[in-house]
Amino acid sequence: MKLDGKQEIPFTATEPYRFCPADGTKLGEPRASGGVSCPLCGRSWYRNSSPAVGAAIVEGDRVLVTVRGIEPEKGRMDLPGGFVEVGEPPRDALAREAREELGVEVEVEERPMLLAVHTYGADGEYVLAIGFRARIISGEPSPADDVAEIRWVSEDEIDALDFAWEHDRRIARRALGDG
Ligand SMILES: [Zn+2]
Repeated sequence: MKLDGKQEIPFTATEPYRFCPADGTKLGEPRASGGVSCPLCGRSWYRNSSPAVGAAIVEGDRVLVTVRGIEPEKGRMDLPGGFVEVGEPPRDALAREAREELGVEVEVEERPMLLAVHTYGADGEYVLAIGFRARIISGEPSPADDVAEIRWVSEDEIDALDFAWEHDRRIARRALGDG
């Protein structure tokens, strides 16, 4: 993966840690589990999927979908949401993302509707996606942040959408009570 003005450095999503994040000591070979222990401080380090949340925001018989305004997958369909910050409860992350991307306050259902693992970006980073159903409790949604456009779609339009990640189609369908 090459970023503007930077060197191309290959990296894989499951690459073990090579240096201890606590003290910078060079780490040895990982165990079969993928964990690697630091010879200086004794901590074990693992690579994990990054948690992300997505919401099917429903109003009547329609669900809100977004067009991505940034890479990766710019121009393709998505659901509002994003990565969960460290220590942040997933439903709070979704409320925060709805504010940032749409300028609305949402009420997020307590139980997730769908869990999925998918890859993200050029390095194939693993993401643990948590899909919720939500509804707008205040504000009128308008695209902001990394969202280029929003659309309200009905059940019969979902199949034709070019979703960046297939599990979002399943969340949208399920939120409307189909599948
Ligand atoms: Zn260490």
